[in-house]
Amino acid sequence: MGAQAMRRHNVALVMELIARDAPVSRVELAQRTGLTKATVSSLVAELTAAELVRDLGPEPGRVPGRPAGRLVLDPYGPVALGLQFASGHIAGMILDLSGRPLARQLRRFDVAGAGAADGVRAARPVLRRLFDEATTAGRLVAGVGVAVGGLVSGGLVSALPLGWREVDVRALVAGELRALDLHGLDVLVAGEVACAALAEYQAGAARDWLYLGGEEVIGLAPLNPAAELAGDLGHVPVRRRGEPCPCGGRGCLELYAGRAGMAASAGVPDAGAARLLGVEEPLVARVRAGDPAAERAVDRAAEALADALVGVRALLAPETIVLGGRLAAFGEPFRQRVVEHLAPGLTLRPAKLGADAALRGAAGSVIARVVADPLAWIEG
Ligand SMILES: [Zn+2]
Repeated sequence: MGAQAMRRHNVALVMELIARDAPVSRVELAQRTGLTKATVSSLVAELTAAELVRDLGPEPGRVPGRPAGRLVLDPYGPVALGLQFASGHIAGMILDLSGRPLARQLRRFDVAGAGAADGVRAARPVLRRLFDEATTAGRLVAGVGVAVGGLVSGGLVSALPLGWREVDVRALVAGELRALDLHGLDVLVAGEVACAALAEYQAGAARDWLYLGGEEVIGLAPLNPAAELAGDLGHVPVRRRGEPCPCGGRGCLELYAGRAGMAASAGVPDAGAARLLGVEEPLVARVRAGDPAAERAVDRAAEALADALVGVRALLAPETIVLGGRLAAFGEPFRQRVVEHLAPGLTLRPAKLGADAALRGAAGSVIARVVADPLAWIEG
């Protein structure tokens, strides 16, 4: 490795450890990286000068001697912008490097009825307001992360709930940024489940766990941000002689554990994917009230989900799966029901984050990129 490549690698290593272990001292960083204290101090100096890392100073009340500075990702440094396209709304958020939301925007819009080009164009006022907020606060924007209510493969978005097929969302969002006179910003696009998984990881969940969730879809993604695999669990067949599915398959999990399928089976209206708008699924309230048809629908969903997880276990052998997204809104009784249908040895944990997980993860993907290669940001 050349000197330049070595420096790039070491800066990233130090940044990654500060992101993971904050607050952390220079001595601890030297121990954990195997680098000398002098090298760590010089790398940290570079990161603090770029406002990517902040030294909070010694812990208050610490006995005198040689007090160790506590390093964190700089909450006053650059910010990340997240954008989310769901079937009935467009949401935006600004996150600082420590993962704290600084501003939110929510626009009700019939994205599913508009087509991709008009759907993305409808994000313009959301982007404008968020950039105005960042500018007013004197913050640089490190990039725009986009979560889409579907799955992404090969850079193109196919989102059944939005009616989007192989859409180059990155190019469309970049076009909106140019229209707002914002140039040279990175745009990262991922499916809502991969984004929510990243947000759970950044909120402290372990790297080797899997995340199961989604608002518009039922998907599975690793929490490890380096693994870009994300799977569409919703269209895994769970009933061999099941009904036909809009995807062309038959007996898909989505028909039994998806929003529309569960609502129809319980005979309640489908309120759409609107948790971020503060709208609870009518079925959740029915279950809480002990309505038998609602409970049967939830039981059926739990059993179908457990059946879909049989294949997941055989292929990926996860020890822990984090359950998030709309299915997590059915609460502890639902999680218990899934667990009852599972063979022992698999832990199903409730997610930490709620309805805004994917939006946080969209912005979080920009933070993850800065953490993985801080020099690219410093030199850019
Ligand atoms: Zn299907």
